[in-house]
Amino acid sequence: MIKVLVSACLMGEKVRYDGNDLRQTHKAFTTLEGKAQLVPFCPEVAGGLSTPRPPAEIDLANGESVWAGAGKVIATTGSDVTDAFCEGAKKALAICQQQGIRFALMTESSPSCGSSLIYNGKFNGQKVSGEGVTTALLRKNGIAVFSQNEVDALLHALKDCQ
Ligand code: SF4
Repeated sequence: MIKVLVSACLMGEKVRYDGNDLRQTHKAFTTLEGKAQLVPFCPEVAGGLSTPRPPAEIDLANGESVWAGAGKVIATTGSDVTDAFCEGAKKALAICQQQGIRFALMTESSPSCGSSLIYNGKFNGQKVSGEGVTTALLRKNGIAVFSQNEVDALLHALKDCQ
């Protein structure tokens, strides 16, 4: 069965910054659970951050900027958590490479897992086009990343490769 890396919070693990999860129960997600082996992973916890933890945003509002050495991930406390975010992202990529995973379903708007929208880095609740630190690294390495709002598209992509 084909494997898909999934943000752990989408599978019900209480690993979000506020100690909650984002368990998905909609029909498409249930279908996905029957069609693929889901591999839950939380980059922020894997990077060494605790749960709960202060929310964080990317100052340049794009994970790619972090890998380019220009952007930083900053928590509301003002602490620089860039290294932890990068460490978690590298571990996510390592799991994909070790297990031959080519698809990921990641939580939209997260500074780690967001795939099309993330917060703008100003902690004012506004989102802009962009992707998280882990998503940027996965995509750079050829892994197709979808959000929880795109499960149908992911199912379609999986069908094409089975
Ligand atoms: S880092 Fe990703 S998996 Fe972990 S809580 Fe945030 S959105 Fe969920």
